[in-house]
Amino acid sequence: MSAGHQNDLLQFRPEGIFCPPAGVYLDPHRKVDRALISHAHSDHARVGCNSYLCSVDCEAPLRLRLGPRAHIETIPFGKSLRINGVDFSFFPAGHVIGSAQIRVEYKGEIWVYSGDYKIEDDGISGAFEPVRCHTFITETTFALPVYEWKPQHEIFREINSWWKTNASEGVYSVLTGYSLGKAQRMIKNLDAGIGKIYTHPSITQMNEVFEKAGVKLPEYTGLAVGKNKTVPDPGSLILLPPAADASQWLGGSLPVESAFASGWMSIRGSRRRSSTARGFALSDHADWPGLNEAVKLSGASRVIATHGYKQVFARWLQEQGIEAEASKTDYFSTNETSDQ
Ligand SMILES: [Zn+2]
Ligand SMILES: [Zn+2]
Repeated sequence: MSAGHQNDLLQFRPEGIFCPPAGVYLDPHRKVDRALISHAHSDHARVGCNSYLCSVDCEAPLRLRLGPRAHIETIPFGKSLRINGVDFSFFPAGHVIGSAQIRVEYKGEIWVYSGDYKIEDDGISGAFEPVRCHTFITETTFALPVYEWKPQHEIFREINSWWKTNASEGVYSVLTGYSLGKAQRMIKNLDAGIGKIYTHPSITQMNEVFEKAGVKLPEYTGLAVGKNKTVPDPGSLILLPPAADASQWLGGSLPVESAFASGWMSIRGSRRRSSTARGFALSDHADWPGLNEAVKLSGASRVIATHGYKQVFARWLQEQGIEAEASKTDYFSTNETSDQ
């Protein structure tokens, strides 16, 4: 398997994905001068770069991550920006709010870097838009044939019926999901008629970003800390990020049912994180059919797989007659609890 060519338009360097003629990095892993950011998840948006370029809706969550002093410029989807003769444009990736695929064109050659993406329109993130290119750098977080998501309305029906059962018994439902994207996707689809919804401060903060961007969420109450510590009503649903400890918010003795939403939950053996928690297979990444569809729609004659099961996917594409390779470097997080 080749590890990239010397004159590639996008190259996997220690600092991140580099475009030599433009002198800029895409989702750099280290501090660089100029960073083009696909989306605001922590493994794609690192602090310390001199300047950042992202899509319009990515700015607010990116600002939250990088702080008030970061220099952030935005570009509307579909508009092009020329840097040292290289044209860059951003297209919806359907992953989280403002998430983008980045298209790079230089002397008639077109590359697309997918960032993270999913094909299903979740009603919040903007629908994935296929972009034609010669070379497609695709994420492959869930690139195994066992990963095939149910439509999200089915998953939300399961989540709401789980909550309803708990609520009818006066039991708290603690649902865990990443605070940027997954949490808002869940809140938006919760049946607020079942009971009250409470959110962890990090999720509340992000909810406000989404609401400012025009996403309508059902009523929720932010959990307060310190003296004004919130005591949630029995039967309510509490939404926490993966790192939070439920007992800190509820006390140890209350009746609680726990669950988490992640693509990793769709296959058995991925439950080692908690033996009692229920898993809902809800992911913000493309599943196996989705990855294959994206490759097909890109029309790319060459594919570079990065993130997760890159070798599996590259081999599979080679068998389909496509020039494919796995990236020599992997900058992005892939573990059983992140699913960012
Ligand atoms: Zn990622
Ligand atoms: Zn992500």
